[in-house]
Amino acid sequence: MAGIYIHVPFCKSKCSYCDFASYPKETSKIESYFACLYREIEARAKEFKDKTFSTVYFGGGTPSFVDEKFILGAVRQVKKHFNLVYNPEITIEINPGTVNKEKINAYKSVGINRFSIGLQTGYDCQLKKLNRIHTAKDFLECTNLLKGENISADILIGLEDQTLEQVKKSIDLALTGGAKHLSVYALTPEVGTPIYNDYLNGRLLSDDEVADIYDGVREYLSQKGIDRYEVSNFALKGFESKHNLNYWERGEYVGLGVSASSFMNNRRWTNSYKIDEYNTAIIFNKVPEISSDIIEGKDAEFEFIMLALRTENGMSIERFNKEFNLDFLKEYAEPLKKKQKYLILENNRLKIKPEYLYVQNDIILEFMK
Ligand code: SF4
Repeated sequence: MAGIYIHVPFCKSKCSYCDFASYPKETSKIESYFACLYREIEARAKEFKDKTFSTVYFGGGTPSFVDEKFILGAVRQVKKHFNLVYNPEITIEINPGTVNKEKINAYKSVGINRFSIGLQTGYDCQLKKLNRIHTAKDFLECTNLLKGENISADILIGLEDQTLEQVKKSIDLALTGGAKHLSVYALTPEVGTPIYNDYLNGRLLSDDEVADIYDGVREYLSQKGIDRYEVSNFALKGFESKHNLNYWERGEYVGLGVSASSFMNNRRWTNSYKIDEYNTAIIFNKVPEISSDIIEGKDAEFEFIMLALRTENGMSIERFNKEFNLDFLKEYAEPLKKKQKYLILENNRLKIKPEYLYVQNDIILEFMK
């Protein structure tokens, strides 16, 4: 079954590490953007009327920053035009300080049932440095509005002078707020972002220091029964993100809105990153795509392997063989032998040993032929 991703490219202000498609200075375009997004939803649904979708994910940007009527409209439009399963997982990304009780109730009224909150860290001084719009207290106020709901929290590691103890405290805060799922990402200093200067000046933690924090986080969460299921994602049993699991299984998904990527019928495409360009394309009944590729042969095989090996559960060899009409163990005998120290082959599945999952890139690259 497939997923639907909807991008909301607006935020209150820009975080110092952010290179996502989010435009705090273009909030005057919110209304016109959603009008165009609704049209894209309808058009893409027509294109894929033979498919069934089981998850919807509002990402950004900050979807909770815009008036709830726009999100409600998008959910209704999706429900009206796409074939959805009964009770789909519908996630919305939220930033503390952008929601109130009315907004949350409105989300719930249309079936939004998973809330992914950008906490990043529980330390106000670090939040300030990242130019986040909220404090740790705002996070708890936000989770207070979401009592009993399915909550996920994002945590960043690798911040200037950050220690494992601080990260553990941030995790404690997330758990106090009721999070049952955590995404723990290493800060990536992207060129052009303010934090890139900190990186150039050697102020951020080294890769080894980040890896040590990551190992400490994994151990800490595992003691609490919150297990890793993908390199950056941890959850109590049953609270894994269905939407993201579909990505790692190389499942199909339609991405709607600015900068959104899609993968349907072996075609991968990406929409324009510019709001004006996106809106203009939609208004003139053109596709807002800036790239489109058919993924086949070795590229498709590598994608399948790479995505599956990011997960704790690894790759089903049977699924691979069926999908590509090949014998994986024969076809990839060489990389399997070369990297056997890092791999587990059991029950017709290939996995990276848990202690090496964080450094999976080097191992996975061996399968790129
Ligand atoms: S809230 Fe997220 S999308 Fe918005 S500026 Fe910060 S990191 Fe970027």
